[in-house]
Amino acid sequence: MMREMAKTWMADPWKLVYQQWDPEQQPLREALCTLGNGYMAARGAAEEAKAGGPHYPGVYLAGGYNRRESEVSGKMIENEDLVNWPNWLHLSFRPVDGDWFDLDAVELLDFRQELDLRRGVLKRQLRFRDHEDRESTLSTRRFVHMSHPHLAGVQWVLQPENWSGKIVIRSELDGAVANTGVARYRQLASQHLDVLDGGQIAEDGVFILVRTNQSIVHMAQAARTQVFTETGEHAVAERHTCHEPRHIAQEIHVDVQRQKPLRVEKIVAVYTSRDRAVCEPVLEARKAAEHAPGFDRLLTTHARAWSRLWHRCDIELGDNHRTQFVLRLHVFHLLQTTSMNTTDLDVGVPSRGLHGEAYRGHIFWDELFIFPFLNLRIPEVTRALLMYRYRRLPEARRAAREAGYGGVMYPWQSGSNGREESQVVHLNPRSGRWVPDDTYRQRHVNAAIAYNVWQYFEATGDMEFLSFYGAEMIVEIARFWASMAKFHPQRSRYEIHNVVGPDEFHTTYPDSESHGLRNNAYTNVLAAWVLRCAGWALERLAADRRAELLAELEVADEEPVRWDDISRRMFVPFHEEGIISQFEGYGELKEFDWEDYRQRYGDIQRLDRILEAEGDSVNRYKAGKQADVLMLFYLFSSEELHELFEWMGYGFEPSTIPRNVEYYLERTSHGSTLSRVVHSWVLARSQRERSWGLFQQALESDVADIQGGTTSEGIHLGAMAGTVDLVQRGHAGLEMRDEVLWLNPCLPVELNHVNLRIRYRGQWLRLHVSHEKLVVSFEQSWRQPAKIGFQGEVYSVEQGQTLEFPLHRHDDGCGEAAS
Ligand code: BGC
Repeated sequence: MMREMAKTWMADPWKLVYQQWDPEQQPLREALCTLGNGYMAARGAAEEAKAGGPHYPGVYLAGGYNRRESEVSGKMIENEDLVNWPNWLHLSFRPVDGDWFDLDAVELLDFRQELDLRRGVLKRQLRFRDHEDRESTLSTRRFVHMSHPHLAGVQWVLQPENWSGKIVIRSELDGAVANTGVARYRQLASQHLDVLDGGQIAEDGVFILVRTNQSIVHMAQAARTQVFTETGEHAVAERHTCHEPRHIAQEIHVDVQRQKPLRVEKIVAVYTSRDRAVCEPVLEARKAAEHAPGFDRLLTTHARAWSRLWHRCDIELGDNHRTQFVLRLHVFHLLQTTSMNTTDLDVGVPSRGLHGEAYRGHIFWDELFIFPFLNLRIPEVTRALLMYRYRRLPEARRAAREAGYGGVMYPWQSGSNGREESQVVHLNPRSGRWVPDDTYRQRHVNAAIAYNVWQYFEATGDMEFLSFYGAEMIVEIARFWASMAKFHPQRSRYEIHNVVGPDEFHTTYPDSESHGLRNNAYTNVLAAWVLRCAGWALERLAADRRAELLAELEVADEEPVRWDDISRRMFVPFHEEGIISQFEGYGELKEFDWEDYRQRYGDIQRLDRILEAEGDSVNRYKAGKQADVLMLFYLFSSEELHELFEWMGYGFEPSTIPRNVEYYLERTSHGSTLSRVVHSWVLARSQRERSWGLFQQALESDVADIQGGTTSEGIHLGAMAGTVDLVQRGHAGLEMRDEVLWLNPCLPVELNHVNLRIRYRGQWLRLHVSHEKLVVSFEQSWRQPAKIGFQGEVYSVEQGQTLEFPLHRHDDGCGEAAS
């Protein structure tokens, strides 16, 4: 970790800079330097490299999935993957009598790679000597256009320093690709594409048409490659189109002269059969590539789109450079995975971004960590992502019926059509064994979806959405919980069985054949919350719409009465004075010898794999992968929890929060990057130093790859967004409750101030939080006034008005828990 950190130079908090070529770090850098626009993305691989060794130039399309069957241990299993599409990046050169340029085969005299976050540009500056003593300089730049989502561009400026001669430039669309980015999946079927067509277009272009072999999605790519002399004239060149079985390229023969730069520009257009307003992908791609402006002009409009995004989305922190830089990197990748271009697509937000193939591009509950950032900046995007869920209601309804439940049961892992895409077995790389995977029993994803709908509504007041889509989702999810909850007469309470909580280490009881656990506290409390939320949502609807919806869903009169009863009598297990049991029976599990394992293994984040390889099982121990009970304190303020527990008939003392936090923090390996975000959050007000430490580790999750190799397979978008949200809602202390934006800042001593802009219910507010004061300015809106809450008082703020509140510096804490 420290090694990569040392080489990640960031004197400028807008830039990720690498100053040495390091093949070992290349897979990580490729993920971190991915460029995307919410529609498509390409990893930060070197243009001249093909997959192999440290290189993996993956190209992904939002929502671009395909399924394949594979045989594992004598059984056929089917997996759905986010497809690796033809590599349009490829650009290379060779002296006419020499080898193709290869970073590993030349003597590198100078190397610098820079990701410019402000403009969304990846640059390389290289100087190298080949084995004929030819010295050259190569400067490369590229973008994936943020406001023309189908376009991307690569520019090379090549300057021979001490030689002249003829070179061959190769510009390729490479369809000979497969999904081989994750070593663990390589035993599974990975060929997703058939190449259908390809050829030359105009004089300076080529195209390729491919189709996925199961989902039948067509993608056409067209590339225009032009070569310019130092004076900006088209260079005199001879072109050959090379039509090879799975790729198509143009080779351009051109003379280069000592000390004279030669500029090569490749403009690429990508269209698919999933796009709207297209006649046919090849036609659209060809037309777009032919008519696209030059590289510099496209770069200008691309940078302008980024500047608009930063105006909305930047969080400015004063002088803490490392933190500032990493936060921006996180915002950057979030906006590359899901942006304004997403609003017109039918896609969800993959937990590993469009940056690699881990988790096969599936969509989990990580939205819970991602949406809060979007809600307060680009709520249009959250709405589109919630519509992805809405459109999959029929599939979720079918899944619930099949499992014997009512309402809808959303899958733990979702892909193209909302079917359960979780794998049934997974490979433990430590033992080499395929082991059953029961983590799909995380039914709590359903609560997360309802919670997300409600939070979106709180942030935007979007009645139309609630009325036409959101309420239906919440009601159907409530019905699911109502059908899953079973009454326990002795306890006189409702219980939920056969589930797995957020902590994926615990999927069953020790030495038991049963599937799942009984009464996971997080799941039960969230289920109770959803059952109440269904009532709130229905209350908000106009009477005729409510009647329409209830009739359409055939909700019987007694159902809401039952929801109310279940929510009031939901069982929550406790096992010590005030300690909420993660699930029933958790208290009886064995304590785990953390010290011993840390000494023996060093990194024990994936304890489940270590123990399985030893022939043991993590199910036997009080050892968690990630926050589970503590998720409650993450999602709800202590006031909200107090009210919710009272509602369920349990006493709840806010003073038990720190004891619960302590208890579970000691028993967590942080095997998920989400874990530190949650722990930092719940400690933010009571133990600020520890909270800051965890926040710093959460920030380093990807940029320093603290899990030792997982980031190269895709970024961890939940943790990235979670860290940003920690500053936005945790440190700046924003809470949306009952149509009021409550502000209760608690700035870490390490931060001087936080400046941000948020959009709350159509109003643009500018916030400045320092240790001394909180300043809220109401910039603009079509809705007036804004309702701001501070220390128990609600203020109405008009456009143009500024409120200023003095804050008292607390070096020892800001209260019990983050609200
Ligand atoms: C975590 C889940 C998460 C998933 C995708 C897993 O390792 O345990 O909570 O949803 O990764 O990010």
